[in-house]
Amino acid sequence: MVAAAKTTALHAATTWPHTAHWPWYVTLVYMAAAVMFALSLKWLSSHKTARRGVKIGEIGMAAAILATLFLPEVRQYNWIFAGAVIGAAIGVLLAVLTPMTAVPQQTALSHAFGALAAALVGTAEFYGHHAQLTAGSTAAIGLESLLGYLTFTGSLIAAGKLQEVLPTRPISYPLQNPINLSVLAAAVACGVWMCISPHIVFLYPVFVGLSLLFGVLLIIPIGGGDMPTVIALLNSYAGLSASAMGFVVNNKLLIIAGALEGSSGFILSMIMCQAMNRSFLNVLFGQAANGKSAPADDVYGGKIRTTTAEEVADILASARRVVIVPGYGLAVAQAQHVTGELFELLDSKGVDVQFAIHPVAGRMPGHMNVLLAEADIPYDRLQEMEQINEQFADVDVVIVNGANDVVNPDARDNPGSPIAGMPILNVDKARIVVVIKRSLSPGFAGIANPLFARDNCLMLFADGKKATLDIIQEVKKL
Ligand code: NDP
Repeated sequence: MVAAAKTTALHAATTWPHTAHWPWYVTLVYMAAAVMFALSLKWLSSHKTARRGVKIGEIGMAAAILATLFLPEVRQYNWIFAGAVIGAAIGVLLAVLTPMTAVPQQTALSHAFGALAAALVGTAEFYGHHAQLTAGSTAAIGLESLLGYLTFTGSLIAAGKLQEVLPTRPISYPLQNPINLSVLAAAVACGVWMCISPHIVFLYPVFVGLSLLFGVLLIIPIGGGDMPTVIALLNSYAGLSASAMGFVVNNKLLIIAGALEGSSGFILSMIMCQAMNRSFLNVLFGQAANGKSAPADDVYGGKIRTTTAEEVADILASARRVVIVPGYGLAVAQAQHVTGELFELLDSKGVDVQFAIHPVAGRMPGHMNVLLAEADIPYDRLQEMEQINEQFADVDVVIVNGANDVVNPDARDNPGSPIAGMPILNVDKARIVVVIKRSLSPGFAGIANPLFARDNCLMLFADGKKATLDIIQEVKKL
């Protein structure tokens, strides 16, 4: 009887469209996994619950994969096992070897391969069942393949730009947007024709070629500060492709997981645009930010006041309230653990120490939160930009370690600046600002920072980790 039931289920699973005759326990695990994915996203949205969010997401995904292995259409385990071992080995190597500062390009590569997997499933379904396809099922395969293939090439280009193996600057040419839109329109027209006549198989390779080309054309005009935003957008496309795949293979959990990924990626890219005061459409169509900054010599000439670790320790000795602002340079210097030590030392001396986190400090959303969590900084010491900005006037000393653009007052005061309107941390309102960086080189936006020339600003020119260690030594001597 069991054998008969399995045969009936198998028959149902291998016909088209796929029908779900799943064992009841698979449905139950899928429902639990869907709830865990939703909880994971909710908990990931706050640094206090983020670790819990990662864990529950992992448990949900592991449970979903295990349950899928019990589906009747899964008949051979050897290829799945081989794929899992090779994939896990590559994943572990990538996770261990990739420095924190290269996570955006690693994320882009993950999206590229995830999207390729979804697109290849669409291709297999098209060629395996094209005689039985309806307009609806062809539309689902078309959407899955379009988004999957364009995300594949787009993410590869994005990873290449971020790793600087491809030119990082936006590449533009005359009639760029009309040409891009024509390629997209041609791909969509092909897809519609396939829906009307699914048996015309030669259309599919043309459709795939146009989708791959559109992925390249979509990303090459984008560059600089917009790249990480585009990664979040590609994440969204990969999720939508997976969701369409859920319709194709009739797997409701894939539909849910893909929709969650699609919407969260989209929301994240909108948040990043807001945090950098960039128009979402300008990012999407590769329109660079306008504005011009004053030459560095004009901004800094004769106005820079340097300091030493010893002098900073003296200043800290009389401070009651200190705010530390981490930036990209702190990540480069790997100064998170010594920053934790400095925090504990000052805290033990009764100084009120807080950390001000800018949403786009570093090179990816949450970059600074991850670094400070590594150093076990208590969550209640982290202050978001909106909270702390009101309070800088009451702060005795701000230590800016490796941050530049996110504390540039030009964004607030100079409407002609390329970063005009980008919300910043108002550190210049504090009594004394100590900036730790190696030189007067600009940050990501490539512009001078008038903060460094202010009367209340002292520059400690050194590597972020070495400078912090030196300050710790000097504070201990007092
Ligand atoms: P910035 O890129 O503005 O500045 C980093 C500074 O760190 C540089 O001026 C550099 O100066 C200094 N630095 C580099 N290495 C070291 C080191 N070893 N020790 C000490 N300092 C060092 O960083 P911010 O974090 O202030 O701003 C992030 C920028 O990235 C913003 O422009 C943001 O828009 C952009 N961005 C961020 C995204 C995100 O999601 N987080 C996404 C997209 C863009 P020097 O060489 O003199 O040492």
